Amino acid sequence: MELGAGTPLEHFRADVRAFVAAHAPGHQVRSGVRSPENAEEYKDLQRWTADLYAAGYLGADWPGEWGGSPGHDPLRGVVVAEEIARARAPMPPSGSSLAANALIGFGTEDQKARHLPPIRSGGHLWCQLFSEPDAGSDLASLRTRAVHDGDGGGWTVNGQKLWTTNGQWARYGYLLARTDPEAPKHKGITAFILDMALPGVTVHPLRELTGTSDFNEVFLDDVRLPADALIGAPGQGWTIANASLAQERNGVGASVVRLQLAVQDLIRDASAVRIDGRPALEHDDVRQQIARLSAEVDACALLARDSTLGHLSGRGTPTDAPMAKLFFSELNLRIAEYALTLLGPAGVLAEGDPDAVAHGRWQDAYLYARAYTIAGGSSEIMRNIIAERGLGLPR
Ligand SMILES: Cc1cc2nc3c(=O)[nH]c(=O)nc-3n(C[C@H](O)[C@H](O)[C@H](O)COP(=O)(O)OP(=O)(O)OC[C@H]3O[C@@H](n4cnc5c(N)ncnc54)[C@H](O)[C@@H]3O)c2cc1C
Repeated sequence: MELGAGTPLEHFRADVRAFVAAHAPGHQVRSGVRSPENAEEYKDLQRWTADLYAAGYLGADWPGEWGGSPGHDPLRGVVVAEEIARARAPMPPSGSSLAANALIGFGTEDQKARHLPPIRSGGHLWCQLFSEPDAGSDLASLRTRAVHDGDGGGWTVNGQKLWTTNGQWARYGYLLARTDPEAPKHKGITAFILDMALPGVTVHPLRELTGTSDFNEVFLDDVRLPADALIGAPGQGWTIANASLAQERNGVGASVVRLQLAVQDLIRDASAVRIDGRPALEHDDVRQQIARLSAEVDACALLARDSTLGHLSGRGTPTDAPMAKLFFSELNLRIAEYALTLLGPAGVLAEGDPDAVAHGRWQDAYLYARAYTIAGGSSEIMRNIIAERGLGLPR
């Protein structure tokens, strides 16, 4: 059952669905949360983001003076993310909403006035400059260094960031850097606004095994940041990062919708395949396997729902979100693996090949599926949290 079925949220869902159908950029074959592949897709994303903010479907949780609707139902954000996923439309850039959360919570009035309106209008896209080559799961060990230039002055930054989604398109970066190497590692980190056009910022798009460029490496060489690039206070970066990440809680519902679509697509594509001269769907083992995956998708939907409702009511546990995330990302990978096994050679052909099944949907889904098992905390880290914080097992 959908979140909010039988409540006023159902009417809201119908409105969002109609809005998405009317305004979203065209159907996307690529799976998951992806970066624009060219300038045209980037423009579409900007326009789409602006439309969502203008309609009040994004940013409703912002303060009223910056365009939010105080007192709004937070479940609406979940519904919007689900409907965007259902339409296979691009997700608005998460770097921009993360940065907005940080600025709303910790920025100065001047920073909010300068940066929040262009985020709403889709004019400025932000990227998240947290991970480094040796700081991913253990983010607090990051080494990018920001040194204060002296009284009233700015900061000089040196270091390297990695896996920066949308870095090639971003106008600004939400940067974490170490400002006090002597402090305990979580306490020596500071958050900054990085103008991506400053001298010393070099962005290298990475070509991934999907054939697309969703990530970048970003090199920072003697980048001079003005004093007003600081978000919050020096040493407050860890607190700011955790608070802004906690605001981003709409993703799991959208992920479940992607699984539901995957099962539908699997049934559609399996019906075109023949095994031993008979349609694949006439084989008991194929039907049973698809039914098993479908049941697991339903279980995942319940986990995601519990996690969201627990979080919003304040009655959740620390393992709700990790369990839902782990279950989703591993199931997503298994569905794609099974689809490729079932579809045979035509299933591994890529978009653009006339013989590809469903325009290469499954090979892309399979190659991208690993990303979900890493992003936002890898499966191993999720299992650690469940073991230690849920089951009380030793570290
Ligand atoms: C789709 C996607 C988008 C991303 N976008 C961004 C972005 O925009 N900005 C950004 O800053 N970062 C981004 N990241 C980076 C992401 O946050 C990191 O990939 C993630 O934190 C894991 O870090 P790592 O890749 O350095 O792996 P590592 O932390 O080096 O881990 C390597 C392996 O060791 C395992 N491992 C690590 N520690 C433990 C442990 N304690 N116990 C057991 N196993 C362990 C991991 O599970 C993994 O299998 C993105 C990643 C993905 C996949």
